[in-house]
Amino acid sequence: TDTDTSDEAVRATCDDATTCKRFATSKGYWKDPYIQYFARSVGERKAPEINRGYYARVQGVNHLLDAFIRKAECNCQVINVGAGLDTTFWRLKDENLMPRKFFEIDFPTVVARKIHNIKTKPPLSKPLIETHSTDSLLLDAHSLDSDRYCIIGADLRDISNLDEKLKKFQLNPELPTLLLSECVLVYMTPSQSSNLVHWAAETFHTAMFINYEQVNMSDRFGQVMIENLQRRQCTLAGVEACQSLDTQKERFLKTGWEHADALDMMTVYSMLPQDDVARIERLEFLDERELLQQLLQHYSICWATKDKLNLGLSQLVF
Ligand code: SAM
Repeated sequence: TDTDTSDEAVRATCDDATTCKRFATSKGYWKDPYIQYFARSVGERKAPEINRGYYARVQGVNHLLDAFIRKAECNCQVINVGAGLDTTFWRLKDENLMPRKFFEIDFPTVVARKIHNIKTKPPLSKPLIETHSTDSLLLDAHSLDSDRYCIIGADLRDISNLDEKLKKFQLNPELPTLLLSECVLVYMTPSQSSNLVHWAAETFHTAMFINYEQVNMSDRFGQVMIENLQRRQCTLAGVEACQSLDTQKERFLKTGWEHADALDMMTVYSMLPQDDVARIERLEFLDERELLQQLLQHYSICWATKDKLNLGLSQLVF
């Protein structure tokens, strides 16, 4: 059916993210010793503006994520929705920033692939075993549950099923919780993503949601981005919520979040530590700075908080 074709195209987007991240790390934009186990090869060359865009994405998201974990002193949970082949869990372990439990959700077929990689690559499985103290480590084809890391195959558009599965794997609604979605909500309709965001606001009293995705999609450059994805049969069902930074924030403010902020990635790029930005700008020559600007102006980070425990979450900024 059309839905199957389109869901399959959406599932394939996790390989794009991984190969682009692997290529950028092979050039030295940032370090990720684990990404090699999820991308078969370095792959073909990516344009310098793409690499800088991924750099801004990874540094921007990590900045907010790490700030949250520090505020909570690791006494928290992380739920990465539409996690794909993301390697954040392993980075946090290496940086002594591991939350009490790190959850990942994706479609069952993506999860099965990720579990297969973890099972067969000791550098991935060792940290899971090391951080596991009780005797029952659940590891089958479609789910993996250890003390500190859990992957669940589920469709994010089916909230009751998602809620049930997370509870089955010991999600604790009382713990400060960070939810992360990187290029995920845009593949769901505005009502489906609002339901997800609303569920999160209802479930946790102290939480932060970080959403990275497209923005300013109604101009000409945005239209070209949409057409490129559609050519690959990817339906950007949620593009309406990507019209502006305000529509990004509204999704949260209308569903029970207390506070929301949003920045386009050009702004984020200009706020990242400038000595490191200067370093990565020397890695590859970029002659069209305007192209980088246009690209970064069409992606954003939006973050929303609610803070019953008064951790000071609304103060988290760049
Ligand atoms: N967040 C990862 C990253 O940045 O590397 C992966 C991003 S990839 C562009 C989008 C991911 O969202 C894919 O792995 C896809 O399978 C997942 N996804 C999209 N819609 C989903 C849904 N309804 N349920 C579960 N996963 C979904």
